[in-house]
Amino acid sequence: MRIAEVIVFAPIAHPLSYLIPEHLQWVIEPGSLVNISLGRTKKMGLVIGVKEGDPHALAYTLKPIVGTVYDVPITNETLIRLYFWISRYYICSLFSVLDAAIPTVIRKNIPLKLTTYLQLSPHIDGTIDAQKLPKQYEALEFLKKNSPIAKSQFLELFSRNILDALLRKNIIYETFRREERLAYSLPGLINPRAYDIQLTPEQLAVIRSVGESLERKAFRVHLLHGVTGSGKTEVYIELMRRVLEGGGSVLYLLPELALTAQVVEKIRSRLEGFPLWIWHSGLSDGERRDAWLGALEQGASIMVGARSALFLPINNLRLIIVDEEHESAYKQSENPRYHGRDVAVYRAQLEGATCLLGSATPSLESIFNTRFKNYQLESLTHRIDHRPLPPVHVVDMRHSLGETKRILSPLLLKKIGERVEKKEQTILFLNRRGYATTVLCKNCDFIATCPHCSLPLTFHRTINQCLCHFCSYRESLRGKCPKCGSPEIFHSGMGTQKVEQLVKELFPAATVARIDSDVMGKRHEFIHILNHFREGKIDILVGTQMIGKGLDFPKVTLVGLINADGSLNQQDFRANERTFQLLVQVAGRSGRGEYGGEVVLQTHIPGNETIFLAKNTNFEEFIAKELDLRKRFSYPPYRHIIHCNLSGIDPVTTEIFAKDFIRQLEGVFGENTADVEIRGPTLSPIEKIQDHYRYSVLIFTPSVSRICEKMSAFRQSITLPPAMTLCIDVDAQDFM
Ligand code: ADP
Ligand code: ZN
Ligand code: ZN
Repeated sequence: MRIAEVIVFAPIAHPLSYLIPEHLQWVIEPGSLVNISLGRTKKMGLVIGVKEGDPHALAYTLKPIVGTVYDVPITNETLIRLYFWISRYYICSLFSVLDAAIPTVIRKNIPLKLTTYLQLSPHIDGTIDAQKLPKQYEALEFLKKNSPIAKSQFLELFSRNILDALLRKNIIYETFRREERLAYSLPGLINPRAYDIQLTPEQLAVIRSVGESLERKAFRVHLLHGVTGSGKTEVYIELMRRVLEGGGSVLYLLPELALTAQVVEKIRSRLEGFPLWIWHSGLSDGERRDAWLGALEQGASIMVGARSALFLPINNLRLIIVDEEHESAYKQSENPRYHGRDVAVYRAQLEGATCLLGSATPSLESIFNTRFKNYQLESLTHRIDHRPLPPVHVVDMRHSLGETKRILSPLLLKKIGERVEKKEQTILFLNRRGYATTVLCKNCDFIATCPHCSLPLTFHRTINQCLCHFCSYRESLRGKCPKCGSPEIFHSGMGTQKVEQLVKELFPAATVARIDSDVMGKRHEFIHILNHFREGKIDILVGTQMIGKGLDFPKVTLVGLINADGSLNQQDFRANERTFQLLVQVAGRSGRGEYGGEVVLQTHIPGNETIFLAKNTNFEEFIAKELDLRKRFSYPPYRHIIHCNLSGIDPVTTEIFAKDFIRQLEGVFGENTADVEIRGPTLSPIEKIQDHYRYSVLIFTPSVSRICEKMSAFRQSITLPPAMTLCIDVDAQDFM
């Protein structure tokens, strides 16, 4: 008899065995979704293995599998190994991985959406009299040229009576086909410069090097470090073409949904004829299903997606591209807390495929891996046509007074004015990480904070209320300070709305538009604004760093960075790295066309070294300095950090438990060994969220793989007091 190992979609730690009934012998394979019974309940499960066995030899009776959800496996053994690896490395349950990896719409098995087509019969009895039945005759002649045709399309041209008559006479019959929806097809998007491109010698060298790995069909990671505007996308497209023409498929990952539209249209126009699917959290159920099944069935296809696309059962996957690989958006902030870039590398290894990481500002982790592991470094050192990188003017904002000057320095104002006159374009960026519009008292330094979270409230003009972004607590704006009664309460900081308003006032002749998370949510509006900007109908675009990545607008000759240093004040050892990346990426949007460009960078710490190095795009020196610093403190990439966050309602018991937690950890690992160093507990930078007090414990280790098994056992062994939660975040990106 055959016995299946099944992981149940329920919080159960281990796979369970089920008997495969006779009629399902040849249907069930690893990757099959099955219905089973567990106790008295009906559940769904995923078959992860099948073996021969004698059920009578067991001390207990095995239940049979009730049935399959699909008649084909919807995932495969490689992906099953990936689920296990994620669960092990990121110290989370297999259930949480499956829950993230196999979306509910795939588990639901809704019947496929079928479209009715009309097909001309092969043998038509008799003909239609063109004189007596002219309409039917016309329809038949039409069908002779256009069969098969969607029924709905036919009915746009001919009446239902004609259709019924032709069906009755067996001249045509109905067939059903799955409708191929192309998710996220945006016909409205203007094609960015679709002409024939002569690749540069630098681009060709990268293609040759990565191409060798593709031909060898063995696992290899390449890191492409290409300055902004050096033509990385063209390199990706050429490599994709090679893979597709050889029958392989490509997975192309992007950190942000916002970037998808422009890139997708570019790829689609260059690689016509190859199926392209899109995968991200904003898709409808139908679109998800189509993309999943499309990936499963079709070889030689392109999948463009956010990190969760890593779980798609892509047929003959040969190349994974991770664009903007330095982005922390690749890290999932809830269970399973995996890093998309690292899972991409592991999946490529399992598939024996090539993995290409790309960025203008690679992460220290990846640079480290090119030096101490086997990653191959590729470089594009010049912009296309040897356009210079734009000069950067650093403006000291420490002494600027007054509402306007606090936001826009005289230099930036002057330069915007020049652009408006010359009909060139400007982008103004706001670093969201740094600023929020907080409410302060000038008299006593009171800051409006959320009573449930230890965070300043943000003032929103549109609703005229202060809002907590962690728990949605709202408070109406008060006329006077609740602490000292002074009426001198005001909003500090700035939002995109405020900058937009100010720029409109100062430059009434210019057309100003704004892109931030409000607009980003509405994809058509977003595309609309980008199109207008590309066509030159917008002079000044105001936005957050979200639009700082990847966009390519040749007529932008000025980029203003309104508050460059925001992210430097963060209590995080990656603060320098994040700031450097942000400044270089954002500056890289300027001067991409033939007109040249410049950047104005406003800061309160003009002497800061990171700002200085970013101003000169001195990547090498930044890396050398920062790696040195990380090495001295044994921070990543020299060691990994596992961040354990404990939170509870009562501050005292939470602290006591956090201390106890450390003692137990030390019991498992011994006090600091070569393998682990334990630090903490400390109150987290955000000490309270939604009335829960938070403590951090950090575990430093040179190798997660060496300790994750022990950690996992430890996690299962501890009992949390009621109302206490524990989050374990391996390779954490966020320590707040
Ligand atoms: P990156 O991703 O490195 O910032 P892109 O791939 O967006 O750069 O390329 C910048 C611009 O240069 C794009 O408009 C692109 O079409 C163009 N480009 C890229 N390679 C070439 C080439 N070999 N010849 C001419 N134009 C190119
Ligand atoms: Zn006050
Ligand atoms: Zn709150």
